[in-house]
Amino acid sequence: MALYGAIEAGGTKFVLAVGEDPAQPREVVRIPTSNNPSETLGEVIRYFTRQRGLAGLGVASFGPLDFKDGTITNTPKLAWQGFPLRDTLQKALGLAVALETDVNAAALGEARCGAGRGVEDLVYITVGTGIGGGVLSGGKLVHGRMHSEIGHLLVGRAPDEDEQFEGVCPFHGDCLEGLASGPAMEQRWGEPADGLPEGHLAWLLEAEYLGRACVNLACVLSPRMIVLGGGVMTQGHLLPLIRRRVSELANGYLPLPDIVAPGCEYPALSGALALAMEAAA
Ligand code: ADP
Ligand code: ZN
Repeated sequence: MALYGAIEAGGTKFVLAVGEDPAQPREVVRIPTSNNPSETLGEVIRYFTRQRGLAGLGVASFGPLDFKDGTITNTPKLAWQGFPLRDTLQKALGLAVALETDVNAAALGEARCGAGRGVEDLVYITVGTGIGGGVLSGGKLVHGRMHSEIGHLLVGRAPDEDEQFEGVCPFHGDCLEGLASGPAMEQRWGEPADGLPEGHLAWLLEAEYLGRACVNLACVLSPRMIVLGGGVMTQGHLLPLIRRRVSELANGYLPLPDIVAPGCEYPALSGALALAMEAAA
């Protein structure tokens, strides 16, 4: 069986793996994301050069991405803006390289070998330092002019409870990411989300915003499943609160998607391996 490479490129770390099968990324290593992209890519290239007989590489990257140029377009890490991520890897390794957003790759990973095995209409959302979402529709990853930016959905503010909080998104203030990301919770409540006890109003508010986003996505995309991952979602009590709110907000009108936790250990790496296989075929 051929061997494929996978990268999950993030703003703080790059996670690298190889595998014959998207369900089993192995030799997983993490390297810090340097302010100098050539330095990080140098380490990435050394890792994959050591692997024998690689047939293709999938890159699941933070964005926003320009798929035509194979670059990251707009990031506070200025040296990464416009850096030729895809072409640098392609030239150095001599492989077919597929570039996707981290969250689109994660949606594919979950649909191939995670919670949504065999599901063709699936949304993956990560709720962490930022909020991002990827969309698989009719078995295909959705690209528009760019790609989805689910983290910046304008979900509206909860009345009463949240009037005073401006939100943390530098572009919009109170978009979904501005109101419901880990840093938004920390700023609103004055302590990191992992210290807030079950039963705290913080979790009802979190379920309100994520519930609104899920209903909006159900209205636009009619997915069969929405997978919710990321650091904030490791709070197991949050998922049932979101399901309940989605059901209340949809009020019987829509067939509701299953709202579930990820099934893959590394959803984006699994998706990147699947993309590498397609790129090499
Ligand atoms: P990133 O988004 O940077 O890739 P994570 O998905 O781990 O990484 O998200 C980090 C964010 O998630 C931080 O804002 C952190 O406060 C929050 N977080 C991490 N672990 C928990 C937890 N157990 N409960 C609630 N929030 C958490
Ligand atoms: Zn925003």
